[in-house]
Amino acid sequence: MVTLTATAYTIPTDAPEGDGTLAWSSTTLVLAEASADGVTGIGWTYAPAVAAQIITGMLADVVTDADPDDVPAAWLAMQRRIRNAGRPGVAGMALSAVDNALWDLKARRHGLPLARLLGGARAVVEVYGSGGFTTYDADRQHAQLAGWVHEQGIPRVKIKIGESWGADTGRDLARMAAARKTIGDAELYVDANGGYARKQAIRVMRTAADLDVRWFEEPVSSDDLAGLGQVRDAVRPDVAAGEYGYDLVYFARMAPHVDCLQIDVTRCGGITEFQRAAAVAAAHGLEVSGHCAPHQHLAVAAATPNMRHLEWFHDHARIETMLFADAATPIGGRVTPHRDAPGNGYAFRRADAEKWRVQ
Ligand SMILES: [Mg+2]
Repeated sequence: MVTLTATAYTIPTDAPEGDGTLAWSSTTLVLAEASADGVTGIGWTYAPAVAAQIITGMLADVVTDADPDDVPAAWLAMQRRIRNAGRPGVAGMALSAVDNALWDLKARRHGLPLARLLGGARAVVEVYGSGGFTTYDADRQHAQLAGWVHEQGIPRVKIKIGESWGADTGRDLARMAAARKTIGDAELYVDANGGYARKQAIRVMRTAADLDVRWFEEPVSSDDLAGLGQVRDAVRPDVAAGEYGYDLVYFARMAPHVDCLQIDVTRCGGITEFQRAAAVAAAHGLEVSGHCAPHQHLAVAAATPNMRHLEWFHDHARIETMLFADAATPIGGRVTPHRDAPGNGYAFRRADAEKWRVQ
């Protein structure tokens, strides 16, 4: 018998955060816990708190009688259950958190590290520092990027551009130049979060030609597949998208239009669907990159043959370091999933999290 519980925690950011098309001052983590035979696995997503209600109100009863080792069977039952609630969106995030918890439960029940249960394609996972919010002033951006590159030795970092839906390309370009100055020879990535129009994105990158940008994420809306392809064909950096992918068909549609497919294990349908989405990418000759929620990605990232890297997103890395014991530090831009403890190796700090609990 499998029992599901869920809680939600809203944690204020350490400074106002924003990108090209959204601003926020807090982030909500929804934790799913799956228990069987006295063992509990944990999985999480970053979603509205209502995802916790979907877990307990819609998903719990369809996995009650599942064999806790048969995660794909539980996944199928959950996917069918949320048909009318909407597979893409909050229900998909709830499904993802539970799938992640079920994989962790299976590993813990068998006394295996999750990274060993999934099997390794590599011992270490490459990460990139991700932050550089449009809301930061020059000093804060410099301090964050310098910390990653010069203190932690992470050789690739990403900043947000596309400010105010592309209305301030002058500041975007100035911040990119400042970032290049801070990071020296490290790789510079940018993410417009869909803030630009097609030709505007191409013009910005051509103006920035001397900055040697290597990664241009969502130069236009990720719904504009033809636009992604148009920008990809016109600029030097790799064009990437996929963070809003909730199902396999989404990734299959997008793959022909990008250089690298992003997948988020807390949205796409959990570890079960992450591995299938990575296979879709591989069939198109693409590598994949893990989007945000770094510790939730580590084991599956190490298990994925065509994995490029993982986004060490400032907001989530900070939350996970506060809320999960034995969180990782990406020294040198590389992180190793736990291989010496059952499951994902993280223990939720319930008492510390309680002050942020909203569900
Ligand atoms: Mg992004």
